[in-house]
Amino acid sequence: RAKTEIADKICFFDNVMDENVRNKRELAADLRYAIEHNQLEVHYQVQATISDSVITGYEALLRWNHPLRGAIPPSEFIPLAEENGIILQLGEWVLRMACKQCAPLGIKVAVNLSPIQFLHPNLPGLVEDILAETGMRAENLELELTESAIIHDKERTLVQLQAIRKLGVTIALDDFGTGYSSLDTLRAFPFDKIKLDRTFMNELETSDQARSIIRAVLSLGRSLEIPVLAEGIETSDQLAILAEEGCQSAQGYFLGRPAPLSMIVSAIEVENLEAPEKLAGMLNKL
Ligand code: C2E
Ligand code: MG
Ligand code: MG
Ligand code: MG
Repeated sequence: RAKTEIADKICFFDNVMDENVRNKRELAADLRYAIEHNQLEVHYQVQATISDSVITGYEALLRWNHPLRGAIPPSEFIPLAEENGIILQLGEWVLRMACKQCAPLGIKVAVNLSPIQFLHPNLPGLVEDILAETGMRAENLELELTESAIIHDKERTLVQLQAIRKLGVTIALDDFGTGYSSLDTLRAFPFDKIKLDRTFMNELETSDQARSIIRAVLSLGRSLEIPVLAEGIETSDQLAILAEEGCQSAQGYFLGRPAPLSMIVSAIEVENLEAPEKLAGMLNKL
C-alpha cells in the first residue's frame, strides 16, 4: 500500500511538473507572438533631482497585457524571456520603442538591459544603430544594468560597456545593494549613476539602521563621484530623509507611477500629474 501511495505521489508530482513546463512553453510562445503583434507596451516612470526638483528623465518599463491572462508582471515574463533567449528580441524591441517614443520629445530615457543581452554579438553596434535609426541623441539615453550582468563574463561585459559609453550613452548600476559583490562592481567600472534598491527605503522613517545604510552608500557615492538615485520612494517622509542625507535624485510612486507616454506628456502639458502639489515645483522648472 505504501508503495502505491508513493507511486501516486510521484505520478502527481510528474503531472504538476508537466503542467508547469507546458505552461511556461505556452507563455513563451505567447510572448514571441506578443512582440511581433504589438501586444507589449512601454510605460515610463519619472526620475527627478531632490534638492531642486528637476525632472531628469524617465525609466522605461515593459508592460505585457496578455489577451487571456491579463497583465503579466515583468518579474514573471523577463526571467522567462531570459531562459528562452527571447530576451534578445525583447530587449531590442523595448530599446527601439523607448528611443522612438522619446526622441521627438527630447526627453531623457533609461532602458533596462538584461545580463543576457551582453551575449549579443554586437550590443554596442545595436545601440548605435537604434540611436541613428530613431534620431535619439546618445546623451539622452541611459542604460540600466544590475550587478549580475557583470558577474557573468566580466571582461567581455566591461569591454562592451566601454564601447557603449564611448557613444555618449550613460550607464546606471541598478538595484544597488542587493547583489553580493557591490563594492567590487563599483571598482570595475565607472558608472554614471548608482540606483539604490528600493528595499533600503523600507523602514527608513523608523529605523536608524536603515538610515545609516543609506548614509553609507551616499558617502561611498560621493567619494567615487557617482550620483545616487533612490528607488521606490513612496512617502514624503522618505523623500525628506533622503534630502537631509544629501541624496541626488529619486524615483518612486510618490513622484509618479509608471504610465504610458501619452499620459505623461498630456500631464506635463496640463501641469496636472497625479499629484499636482508634489510635482508642480518640478513642472515649473521644465
Ligand atoms: P527595476 O529596473 O528596478 O524597475 C523598478 C521597478 O520598481 C518597477 O517594477 C517599478 O514599477 C517599481 N517601482 C517604482 N517605484 C516604486 C515604488 O515606489 N514602490 C514599489 N513597490 N515599486 C516601485 P516593474 O515595472 O514591475 O519592473 C520590475 C523589474 O523588471 C525591473 O526592476 C527590471 O528589473 C525588470 N524590467 C522591467 N522592464 C524591463 C525591460 O524592458 N527590460 C529588462 N531587461 N528588464 C525589465
Ligand atoms: Mg531599472
Ligand atoms: Mg531597480
Ligand atoms: Mg529591480
